[in-house]
Order: sequence, then C-alpha cells, then structure tokens
Amino acid sequence: MCGIVGYIGSRNAARVIVDGLQKLEYRGYDSFGVATNNPRIEVFKRKGKISEMGSDAWSLHGTIGIGHTRWATHGEPSDRNAHPHLDCRGRIAVVHNGIIENYAALTRELRERGHEFRSETDTEVVAHLVEEFYDGSDLRTAVEKTVARLEGSFALLVTVEGLEEVIAVRDSSPLVLGIGDREVFAASDVTPLLGYTERVVYLEDGDLATLDREGWRVYSHGHPVRRRVEHVDWDVETVKKGGFPHFMLKEIYEEPRVFHDTLHGFAASSLPERYRHPPEITVVACGSSYHAGLVFKYLCESTCRIPVRAELGSEFKYFTPPLKGIVTVITQSGETADTLAALKKARAYNCPTLAITNVLGSTVTRIADHTLYMRAGPEISVAATKSFVAQLAVLMRLIDLMRGNDRLLTALEQANTVIGEVLLLDIDRAVEICRPAEHLFYVGRGLFYPIALEGALKMKEISYIHAEGYAAGELKHGPFALLSDQTPVVALCPPGDTYSIMLSNIKEMKARKAPIIGIGASGDRELTDIVDVFLPIPESPELVQLVATSVVLQQLAYRTAVALECDVDQPRNLAKSVTVE
Ligand code: GLU
Repeated sequence: MCGIVGYIGSRNAARVIVDGLQKLEYRGYDSFGVATNNPRIEVFKRKGKISEMGSDAWSLHGTIGIGHTRWATHGEPSDRNAHPHLDCRGRIAVVHNGIIENYAALTRELRERGHEFRSETDTEVVAHLVEEFYDGSDLRTAVEKTVARLEGSFALLVTVEGLEEVIAVRDSSPLVLGIGDREVFAASDVTPLLGYTERVVYLEDGDLATLDREGWRVYSHGHPVRRRVEHVDWDVETVKKGGFPHFMLKEIYEEPRVFHDTLHGFAASSLPERYRHPPEITVVACGSSYHAGLVFKYLCESTCRIPVRAELGSEFKYFTPPLKGIVTVITQSGETADTLAALKKARAYNCPTLAITNVLGSTVTRIADHTLYMRAGPEISVAATKSFVAQLAVLMRLIDLMRGNDRLLTALEQANTVIGEVLLLDIDRAVEICRPAEHLFYVGRGLFYPIALEGALKMKEISYIHAEGYAAGELKHGPFALLSDQTPVVALCPPGDTYSIMLSNIKEMKARKAPIIGIGASGDRELTDIVDVFLPIPESPELVQLVATSVVLQQLAYRTAVALECDVDQPRNLAKSVTVE
C-alpha cells in the first residue's frame, strides 16, 4: 500500500513532498519519511502520521527529494523501519511501495558481502543492491540491474548523493509522473500533483523513468519508450476538506451530485456491442465494490435475465470456473491486487473484460478490454462512501446500456433529491443505540441484503464495533442465538416483495429483546410502531430507496465513529487501496 512522492525542480523539495504525502496518507499512515539530495542526502523519518508531524521534515534542505507514508508489511511501524532506506554509506536513498518477495535471500547474500542492515523491512535490500551496482555516475544502469534481482511488486524512487536525478520504477504498484516547467514530480496517484501541474504520465509495469530538471525519459527493458502525457481535470479543492471536519463527511455530502453525474455520464455508445448480450456475467471485486457487485447480480438477473455470479477477488484465484461470457471487475482505485489478479485470470480464458473504476489511467484500465469510469472524483477517506454510490450508479446504468433503454435512468431521476433529503435525517437516537454496543447486526433481504453487508462493513471499519451483515432469512440459522437486549439490529424494511416477511423477522427479533433500528418508507406506521428507532426514507422508487438507505447507513457509521472519538478518515490497520494480495 503506502504512498510515495518524488520531486526535482527549484522548489523546496521537503515542502512539496510533505504536502503531497499528506494527500496520499489514506494509502498508509503508520510512519513517514523524506530524504532530500542537496547534494548530501538528508533524512527525516518518524513513526506516526504525516498529517500530525509532517512539518518537522520541512527543515530538510534541497530541491530534489523523495518521500513515503508507510503501511507496514515487513517490520513493525517504527522510526527505524520508516522509509527512506539508505545504503551502508548513507549516499543512496530509496522509497518503496509494495513487497520484495525474495528479500530474505537477498539480505543473506548482501550481508555475506559485508552490507549492514538497519531495518527489518524488505525494502532495505534495494538500497544495498543499488550500492553494489552503482559506479558513481550511471544510476539508471545500477537501478536496472537492481530491479532485475527483485521479485514481487514495487514502485520505487531512488536518489543518490551528488547526482541531480531521481529514478522512478514501476512494477505492479502504481506510479505517475507530473510534468511541470523545469520540474518533475512522481507520485503513487495524481492527488499530490494537483495544484502543481495538470500534465501527467502514467507509467506502465516494467517502466523505469529518469527525472531531472530538463525533463523525463522512460525506458522499458533498457530501451527508451514513448509514454503519452495526459491531462487531469480533477480540481485541487476536491482533495481538501472544504470546511468539513472529516473527508468522510465531505464525501458523503458530495453523494447527491456524484450519483447524478455518474448516472448521466454515459451515452448509448459507452458500452460496445459485444458486452450487450453475454450468455453470462462474472463480477469480481473486494470489499465495498463486492457489495456493489452483489446488487448488480440481483438486479441484472431479474431485469436482463442473464445469469450473474459475484465473486470475491481474494478467492477467485482458488476457483477453476467454467468461465464464459464477460468478466466485470470493480475497483475504486483500479489498483486492488486481488482484483487485478482476477482480471488477468479472466483474460487467460479469453473472456471480454470490463473494468469499473474511479481512477483514470489506473492499472485496471490498462489490462481490461473496456472501462466504465465512476467519475466520483478523488476519495480520500479510507472508508468508501461516494465511490460506493457511484459504483451503484454505473452498475444500474450498465443494465440500461445492456438493454438499450433508459428505464433505470428514468426511475432514478429523483435520486439526488432523495439522497439530499436523507442527509438531513435526525439520526441521533440511532447513534445512541449503536454507540455503546459491542455487537450489531444488519439485516435485509433481496436487493437490500448487499446494502446490509455494506452498512455493517462501514460500521466495523470506522467505529471498530463488531457488526455483521446478514440476509434476514439466515439469522435463524445460527445468529439468532446471539440476540439479546445487548445486540441492536439495523433492519432494512423497504416496501415491496420483502416487506411482510421482513416485518415478521423484526417481530421475532423484538421478541428476543434486540433493540431495532428500522429503515423503511416514510409514513410506514406499522414499522414505526414495532421498532425502537425509525429512520424514514422519502417515498420513491425501490432503487432510489436502495441508494438512499446506503447513504443513511454511511451516516450512521460516521456519526457513531465520531461519537466514539475514532479516527474516522484513517481507521487503524487499514489503507485505502489494497495493493498487496
Ligand atoms: N514492504 C515495505 C515495508 O513494509 C513497503 C510497504 C508499503 O508499501 O508501505 O516497509
């Protein structure tokens, strides 16, 4: 995971890098560090968050540098294990995103050759290997030789004392260059570049780029290659909190607009003909994206009559499915390692592949045959909120595109208004029920079952309350044994086919004394009377209720986490893009 930033130009490198890393902190936040090359290598690194201590690194001098915000995979979060890592003589500095799988063998070999290691990370071998190969002038060749020895996934930035150059390498971990006027940036994603430049170059796997004040060059297998300069239109304001106490709340408040814009962002031609009538669809995704995939399964099977299976990215490698039809992968970042692995597997079956992602130029867009963008704008908070509703918008619109009509688009016309209305709901009493709980259940049926799963995921990831999402009918097959006045249940009870049976289930749970937070249609007297707290969704079509309910559950998780004084935007142990399997 982790975020990396590099800079060469005429600005104060430490400031640019700290500023950039703060925007990448959602990718990792157990420790951080910066090295500048001025021309001596100066390093500042600490356990803890760059948002809290980053300004301590401003004292570093120089206009060339590299930096890192870490999500530890090898070695505990500590000052010593924080990046950058140096060679024996402190002349070569390296930051790394990813995992060096053969680091143990390389460490043994380098130790035998007299190298001294100072950290427990897998990364440090890179600095020592570059030291082995560096002849005092040709850093590119030294890094090429180093990379040839590495197995695993990595994005690397390397700089060497006395050389006005930064080398950037990409292999299975994201890396993008920002091109300015006599300055070049490198970063894990485009957010650190916003405000400095709109011109970016997405490196490809196997690329090595040399950056200096004259510009940038990209090599693949030692030969120069051309890479296109692209234009990013994200606004720098979108990566600021804009007066909100947390990014998560800001991103929730963007949802009415995001849902509307995403939904209307596709023309009939957005979906090539060969995706329209597949014999079968396999959706592969992880986390919240998987829940969006499950919604698609319910919806697509009933409306298009096409069999859809939804699979977890992390499990997909263990299947040998008889794949036919199209394979659709959903990943907010476009970098989720398990989802990418699934996509590569699908390609091996020769299935047409379709990616749904938020990030222009991300890895998934390079591997998939076709991409539909969520266009939710940068999402900084680790918990997915606006990206989840944007995924729902894409998937619902995908059904229209497959059927060649605008039925869902029409049914969802008022969604942004309804989402806006539920943002104003008073949920204080629901928060009061959740806040002291150690365990929560979220239950729903049909289309609302994946929404229950997503609601529970949101609650556990940011409030650390153990929350389980269940298909309401499954509760009696075991979990009912856990119900008591100490286990509140969030019950999704919209009007429609599942209404009466959900109402019976709620009564059964009430009989076991479980406090119930019921979410249903505004004006539903019967539901209001049996639940402890009723959260009304304005009268609207079923799919609008579905999206609005997701938003209410996000708010419930957010408000509960705030009441518990949790670190909402950066929950413990998590990082936003899961780029390791
Ligand atoms: N594997 C490296 C470490 O544990 C890099 C982890 C990261 O990508 O943050 O330090």
